[in-house]
Amino acid sequence: MRGAVIEILRWGGGRKCRQAIKSLRNALLLLLVLMPLARGAEEVAHGLVRACSSIYPPPLEEVRYATTYNFTGHVLYPFPVVYLHRDAAAALQKVQEDLASQGLGLKVFDGYRPLPVQAKMWAIVPDERYVSDPLKSRGKHTRGTAVDVTLVDHLGNELPMPTGYDDFSEKAHRDSAKWSLEQRANNLKLEAVMQKHGFVPFPFEWWHYDLRGWENYPPLDISFEELARGVETAKPAD
Ligand SMILES: [Zn+2]
Repeated sequence: MRGAVIEILRWGGGRKCRQAIKSLRNALLLLLVLMPLARGAEEVAHGLVRACSSIYPPPLEEVRYATTYNFTGHVLYPFPVVYLHRDAAAALQKVQEDLASQGLGLKVFDGYRPLPVQAKMWAIVPDERYVSDPLKSRGKHTRGTAVDVTLVDHLGNELPMPTGYDDFSEKAHRDSAKWSLEQRANNLKLEAVMQKHGFVPFPFEWWHYDLRGWENYPPLDISFEELARGVETAKPAD
């Protein structure tokens, strides 16, 4: 044993050791560079994760609430990021894998929505078919378990769906008789894969799905800025 230690010490002082230390230092430097990238896939707060860095292949994101191009005409999110509860992201991962095998993928319009934003939307559209009453249900998107999605082909082109996103008309309802055969077929494809992996379709918006058991997740009042900082102090809404 003593001989082996002496041997290691002797080896440790040699050229091989300096090379090993250099390699180790380079590996550590590389790790430091990659760390901020990897961090995106970690949980940011209260079980929320960034969708694009948690799901592979990453879904396309079109966060219209970070622009004025939405039904309110106001910028509601400070930057275009989709946050989801880790359970919803895990289920969406399976959806994305399933779709990838068919040459398709998801485009995500919205995920977690802070409670004050929900209240702002409700003030503009006080109709529970399209926006949850924040005083009653405290919202569904506020739990990080709801997603607004559509299907895209391998080039990222949206497949024809019954209406555009956030079209608050009866044509967006799942029981609408106004859909073309192609729109119906595409919607059925989306519905089938989402249901298969644990999502429940919402009757009044073809794009909206809730993770099964969503009511067991608490509504959250954490801003996007707080999430971006990864704060651990923000509290669930009362
Ligand atoms: Zn929705």
